[in-house]
Amino acid sequence: MSDIPADFETARAEAEELAERIERYRTTYYAEGVSLVSDAEYDVLFHRLEALEREFPELAGQDSPTQQVGAALVSAGFPPHEHAERMLSLDNVFTLDEFAEWAAKAQAAAGRPVRWLSELKIDGLAISLAYRDGVLETATTRGDGRVGENITENVDFIPAIPRRLEGEGYPSFFEVRGEVFLRSEDFEALNARQHALQAEFAAEQRARGRADDAIPTRFPEFANARNTAAGSLRQRRENKSPQALELMRERLGRLSLYLHGIGAWDNPPVSSQSEVYSLLAGWGLPVSPHARVFDSIDEVTAFIAHHGEHRHDVEHEIDGIVVKVDELALHAELGATSRAPRWAIAYKYPPEEVHTKLLDIRVAI
Ligand code: NAD
Repeated sequence: MSDIPADFETARAEAEELAERIERYRTTYYAEGVSLVSDAEYDVLFHRLEALEREFPELAGQDSPTQQVGAALVSAGFPPHEHAERMLSLDNVFTLDEFAEWAAKAQAAAGRPVRWLSELKIDGLAISLAYRDGVLETATTRGDGRVGENITENVDFIPAIPRRLEGEGYPSFFEVRGEVFLRSEDFEALNARQHALQAEFAAEQRARGRADDAIPTRFPEFANARNTAAGSLRQRRENKSPQALELMRERLGRLSLYLHGIGAWDNPPVSSQSEVYSLLAGWGLPVSPHARVFDSIDEVTAFIAHHGEHRHDVEHEIDGIVVKVDELALHAELGATSRAPRWAIAYKYPPEEVHTKLLDIRVAI
């Protein structure tokens, strides 16, 4: 990855080609929930583009995918909704050395002891929920970070998203951000249902005299939990047959939610993000039971190692660990780039299934 071309023109040609490929993969991924390449392959291309832009900063124009969140809105038909506060992505690191470098920089910029909130990186899709006077006002996908899809009409079918807050003391208006995902057991149950439906359909077709090899796949197996969650959330109710509506209800009913951040919220009455989670839990909002706060980087590194070894012991897919500076005042002090906050980082685990392929790509570029 260090073989950056010495001359600008060669670097520009490579950066343009990378940006074009990444753009195509992103659009398909966010708009259609389809992965044309594995996440690991995508990350390698993205990282390479970042490296070229670090060497030649004039390549990092506003249009570069490295400067953007998600992809421009290609709506499945939902109305657009502007977030009261921008939703950002996260910068990634892939080695413990890169992580230590990031933490040292954040620590130095903070200028005072930092406590590290360490969380599982849930492999789902980001959502923003706005509550007014304790009642859900909008549920919106991230979109390009400024404008997302208003999917509130689907919340009727998603019991994981609370319509009303419990308790008291919540602000009159605030936004919370989180991840919608499928627990592994729910993903398996949905696939079992697809198999059963396909078997039923095939039996019906056979009874009508159709040969086995001429029976189409009407209920295909879902490829992965993340894309299935994304596809489920962005279904429209309109023009659905009663059977399709019932399936939609079943898929949305299996979605889970953990909140992991805040958007617009004037003066939260606590000083750290971990305390925000306690407040949210008190109002009946779901937060992950796996988050921990540590005083030292060594403890964070141990947390990363532990979950790397026990990746499948939690209830959902994870693709890394998110480490955040816990103190809210430091979030404002450290700020953000156009794409990601400087007070948080995602440590991504090496991919399990495409390891060889990834290594090939790393060697190839
Ligand atoms: P990201 O997935 O690397 O990280 C940012 C997101 O992580 C946040 O927006 C948030 O929704 C989520 N997240 C999960 N757990 C969290 C937690 N505990 N705290 C905070 N945030 C948490 O970035 P992204 O911008 O959403 O997407 C980029 C990634 O998506 C790529 O790295 C790649 O893995 C994947 N992708 C794949 C393809 C493909 O074709 N395969 C295309 C585009 C993107």
